[in-house]
Amino acid sequence: MFAFVNANVIDGTGAALRKHQRVLVDKDRILAVGSRIGIPEGTRIIDIDGKYLMPGLWEGHAHLGGVPRGGLEDKEESRNFKDMRNVCLEHGITTVRSFGDYQKDTLELRDQIDRGEVRGPKLYCSGRTFVRRESHPVCTGWAGKEKIMNNCGYIPDTPEEARDMVREGADEGLDFYKIIVSNGHISIYPKVVPTIKSEIVAAIVDEAHKLGKIVACHVDTLEQAQMVVDCGADEVHHLIAEGSKKYELPEYEKLFRDMCRQNTWLVPTIAIGYQNDQSRISKGAPNGGDDKAPVFRMAYEYGVRFAEGCDAGIAVMTWGICTHDEIIKMVETVGMTPLEAIRCATSASAATMGKENESGVIKAGAAADILILDKDPSVDIRNITSINRVLKGGITVAGEDAEWTEEYTPCHDWPNYVIW
Ligand SMILES: [Zn+2]
Repeated sequence: MFAFVNANVIDGTGAALRKHQRVLVDKDRILAVGSRIGIPEGTRIIDIDGKYLMPGLWEGHAHLGGVPRGGLEDKEESRNFKDMRNVCLEHGITTVRSFGDYQKDTLELRDQIDRGEVRGPKLYCSGRTFVRRESHPVCTGWAGKEKIMNNCGYIPDTPEEARDMVREGADEGLDFYKIIVSNGHISIYPKVVPTIKSEIVAAIVDEAHKLGKIVACHVDTLEQAQMVVDCGADEVHHLIAEGSKKYELPEYEKLFRDMCRQNTWLVPTIAIGYQNDQSRISKGAPNGGDDKAPVFRMAYEYGVRFAEGCDAGIAVMTWGICTHDEIIKMVETVGMTPLEAIRCATSASAATMGKENESGVIKAGAAADILILDKDPSVDIRNITSINRVLKGGITVAGEDAEWTEEYTPCHDWPNYVIW
């Protein structure tokens, strides 16, 4: 058992910072939090006067085989995702949602991490992604690559097939489902391809909900977002594809009202629009960025629920840094307060998986996934990068006094893959 004392606590719920707190940790759980809680005799005391204690971050949309060490590779080629696992922990990311990766590899890795055999963030995995045969990514990044098709895709032709696949995925241990609802990709821009049919999306959502699991949808356009919301999907990711048709702001009104009514999450992947993405620039496709900001600001003002997810691991989104960038963009472009942006990447992201009482929060009973910062992120969100130490499950995994480290050499020589 140990206790942090004199902590400035940001609990991850959006509540104001509390000073002079004690946080008592027993094994992998937080036992108690408060200014006057008793600390049993013999407890190791860690005085962090002047520092800031908050929940470990969630990265809510990631591709495990991605950068550094690029591409959608399997476990062996990715050296058991060694770079991803270590870079995440060093950046304070203690939970990751794998959003379309090699199913077998990611499920195996998830279980190894849970058993404590491998050092890494806790994983939630969507396994094989539901896609349309004629659409992205089958006709783009996956083209002709049988290994990727078999390991990464569910490609139903009918609603009945889709339902069977949902049940199969549950049997294999998927934590949630991902559908790609897309009609284009930068690799084929400006060509468009058919979107997955609404009756297939509706069948996936219905069957998943019967099994108590959620469905997250990659969407490129307003119409696709409205379609998945009409089908009852739980999460809309991206919403606007760079280079796709633009809409007037009032056209988003019905979507945002429906999302508020149905409590649909928006995971906007904002930071990606600000990257210097040569694959877009060379084709003359707009890069997004400030073009998208007014739409996300409108969603926020309407009260749509936001969670964090930045597409970590794709070519232009380098693990660790990109999650911090996304949190910073939520303040600088969407107009959130720093505490709201922190909530997006902690308790709100945990809530997408129904885990808000056990992760992404500093309170009794929650996992001891803790981030300690040198500077106050509630006054300046850029201080989210001032990492002092990181704990996962009560073990210090990065920074001062790290108890468990793993040798690795980050690779900065990755191919420019854009798969999803
Ligand atoms: Zn993605």
